[in-house]
Amino acid sequence: MHAFNGKAVLKETHNFKVHLNIQFMVSYKELGLVNTKDMFAKAIKGGYAIPAFNFNNMEQLQAIVKASAETKSPVILQVSKGARNYANQTLLRYMAQGAVEYAKELGWEKPQICLHLDHGDSFETCKSCVDFGFSSVMIDGSALPYEENIALTKKVVEYAHQHDVTVEAELGVLAGVEDEVQAEESHYTKPEEVIDFATRTGCDSLAISIGTSHGAYKFKPEQCTRDAETGRLVPPPLAFDVLDAVMEKLPGFPIVLHGSSSVPQEYVDIINANGGKLPDAVGIPEEQLRKAAKSAVCKINIDSDSRLAFTAAVRKVLSDKPGEFDPRKYCGPARDLMVELYKHKIVNVLGSEGKAI
Ligand SMILES: [Zn+2]
Repeated sequence: MHAFNGKAVLKETHNFKVHLNIQFMVSYKELGLVNTKDMFAKAIKGGYAIPAFNFNNMEQLQAIVKASAETKSPVILQVSKGARNYANQTLLRYMAQGAVEYAKELGWEKPQICLHLDHGDSFETCKSCVDFGFSSVMIDGSALPYEENIALTKKVVEYAHQHDVTVEAELGVLAGVEDEVQAEESHYTKPEEVIDFATRTGCDSLAISIGTSHGAYKFKPEQCTRDAETGRLVPPPLAFDVLDAVMEKLPGFPIVLHGSSSVPQEYVDIINANGGKLPDAVGIPEEQLRKAAKSAVCKINIDSDSRLAFTAAVRKVLSDKPGEFDPRKYCGPARDLMVELYKHKIVNVLGSEGKAI
């Protein structure tokens, strides 16, 4: 089952005790996972996008698997470095394996589930994920100078491809906050760089910056207009001209959009009505994501919307029933609301329903 990768490390401590740090490798194929290659090829051809939902706890994972199984949508389970630290890497691996089995139990005969590292920050992190059963990794060198981004990405690609693991890279900088990823300002991807970058790195997909942003506060009020009737912020449109130019340079190449939550106002309202404080939280309108999903954009990352659904449900239960202290009584409704959210995204936004039968 597990291949021993021959890296037993002997460490001598000050009192001369010897510790064996034995690493085991596991291939994602043994876990029943798939990489993104076929998923993306079919998505580009079919004019839809694969959902990439982040998870870091059991309820989120249950909800993602249930929604994907019930809609027969291919899905990318996405884990950031922070989530990996939160949930524990060993537990995560078995959770992903469990997700495949749970999907089958739900009647999805051939689940197409990918386990992907979101925003890998170093070769070592990516390598460790490949060795731990991930079927896809992202190396985010977007904050580095161009040549350094290429060198780092290429190194990750060379290792990952030996194990049939696909690699997502990033060019251009997204604004916003997501775990350890943080940038004040966004810089659109330069279309003139993408051919050189994709050719020299050998990456399988490319995350680009066209105005999406991480977190629940994607835009500052001064970047938006305000709807006179509702008083809500209206965000600036995505830079579809940049996307078009990238697609012209790299025809048929898989493009990824990060920071693509829509920040549903009904969740924000529930949170704010039940003791929360999220003034002016604003996301990417779903019709813009729908438009992007029909193009070479074949992976759309959604994290904040699920956090908002979870928090809205928990806040509502706890404020309606202050005596409640059984976590199942508030995590259960949170899970139900997330299933609803994920299904809505799959069916009405990404168009991936029925694509993994
Ligand atoms: Zn991201």
